[in-house]
Amino acid sequence: MEKYDVVVIGAGPGGYVAAIRCAQLGLKTACIESWINDEGKPALGGTCLNVGCIPSKALLDSSHHFHHIKHEVKDHGITTSGVTIDVNKMVSRKAKIVKMLTQGISGLFKKNKVEWIRGHAKLLSNSQIEINPVHDEHDEKSMIEAGHTIIATGSVPTKIPPASVDDKLVVDSTGALKFNEVPRRLGIIGAGVIGLELGSVWNRLGSEVIVLEALPDFLAVVDRQIASEAEKVLRNQGLDIRLGAKVTGTGSNNREVSINYEDSEGKQQITVDKLIVAVGRSPNTQGLGADECGLELDDRGFIVVDDNCKTNLENVYAIGDVVRGPMLAHKASEEGVAIAERIAGKASHMNYEVIPWVIYTWPEIAWVGKTEQQLKEEDIEYNSGSFPFMATGRARAMGETAGLIKILADNKTDRVLGIHIFGPSASELIAEAVLAMEFESSSEDIARTIHAHPTLSEAMHEAALGVDNRTIHI
Ligand code: FAD
Ligand code: NAD
Repeated sequence: MEKYDVVVIGAGPGGYVAAIRCAQLGLKTACIESWINDEGKPALGGTCLNVGCIPSKALLDSSHHFHHIKHEVKDHGITTSGVTIDVNKMVSRKAKIVKMLTQGISGLFKKNKVEWIRGHAKLLSNSQIEINPVHDEHDEKSMIEAGHTIIATGSVPTKIPPASVDDKLVVDSTGALKFNEVPRRLGIIGAGVIGLELGSVWNRLGSEVIVLEALPDFLAVVDRQIASEAEKVLRNQGLDIRLGAKVTGTGSNNREVSINYEDSEGKQQITVDKLIVAVGRSPNTQGLGADECGLELDDRGFIVVDDNCKTNLENVYAIGDVVRGPMLAHKASEEGVAIAERIAGKASHMNYEVIPWVIYTWPEIAWVGKTEQQLKEEDIEYNSGSFPFMATGRARAMGETAGLIKILADNKTDRVLGIHIFGPSASELIAEAVLAMEFESSSEDIARTIHAHPTLSEAMHEAALGVDNRTIHI
């Protein structure tokens, strides 16, 4: 039986990064992956590259260009006419990007000497793994031995009984990335990250989008001030967001889907051409053999791990979406690097307090650290400084004036506790905030740092000055 120092199960951003880092550190490494892509071929990259982060951002960018050219460039004196969208071309551009990037991982595996084993892994014990063929019917079941195992099997869309996915009219996030025309009326269940991102894509292309959210608050995990600004702007863009809406049932014929839901005003019904179910994601341990080998799962199906991603089985670790913590690609990758380094006997570092979040609507929403509501709940005294993009020269020049940056800092020490952004390129601006928090900066450190002019980052500088009530431009 072939023996490896490390076997990684799953080649999403958690698994493939862990495998590359293990191999870089001189460990004999294999990565088992069961993904079969739309062309019927095995593929690396997991949810993130195949049906998650990358394809959704490709569509967000295409739809942003379309909307911008059609509705916004006229303010710059640019006249356009006959602007149309070829949805099939947009979707095949996305597919090309996915193919290029997933093939890129296979190149990285070759370069770093990670062995890619195609198949579905089942744990037989803490050191023996069975591989079941998924692609070629002529492949045979095999077994390998692992000194250490890293489980990175990710997550799958959560299903809800009142809206079962038929992959025709009712789809999950994967189906919503490959519509071949713009639905006239689009329903979305769940006003979370996926609902808002994919809702934005199709809204920009002309769909009437209705988003049904069970909770009474919009984006409950986001800082309240930021969520309320974002809600106003997204509603203005045409997203019909209905809060406190509990879906009780759906029915579809070949053409349309009817959705029954209840809100504070009673029973409601709407009819749409397509429905996206985006109510969260669930850990994926299907066929992994958790029960048989005694791998502990919690009551929601996540693999139980300690702060160092160790499971209850000796030398078996788990990372990424299949364990506690935010379901984000960069969180999965950083855990992968940390575990690889720990297995190789090196010191490693994973700071769970400073994981950035981004929601890629336009304007974008990004944050790191604690929200104002969390600080209040935890009785932490803080000062706050904020600055609207409208008051920066660069945002004015760009015509992107919505939103603000807010910095929350400890009342006694001035240490930054949280930074929240709603605005243009928030996904890029948040990096400065993450670095500041990682280095345990004070807001005064940011205030004394020279920011280039004219840039959007000047709003960060001014928000930091604002913590001490000394903004210049407002
Ligand atoms: P995954 O990427 O899910 O990979 C797990 C892999 O394991 C899969 O390839 C699967 O085939 C394989 N596998 C499972 N079981 C087995 C087995 N038994 N044997 C062999 N292989 C197995 N996150 C962000 O940070 N930014 C974003 O912009 C973003 N956008 C997203 C958009 C969408 C539409 C979706 C759905 C998700 C998005 N995410 C985003 C979340 C992100 O995709 C996940 O957090 C990330 O992919 C998790 O990485 P992972 O390695 O833990 O798991
Ligand atoms: P989510 O948790 O962000 O949002 C799901 C929403 O659905 C919640 O607001 C929830 O209250 C609501 N909901 C749940 N059940 C419902 C019901 N029966 N009826 C109506 N509403 C209901 O989950 P998601 O949007 O599916 O995304 C899953 C995860 O994928 C995210 O949490 C995130 O970790 C990851 N993701 C990240 C990004 C990013 O980083 N930009 C993008 C997409 C996905």
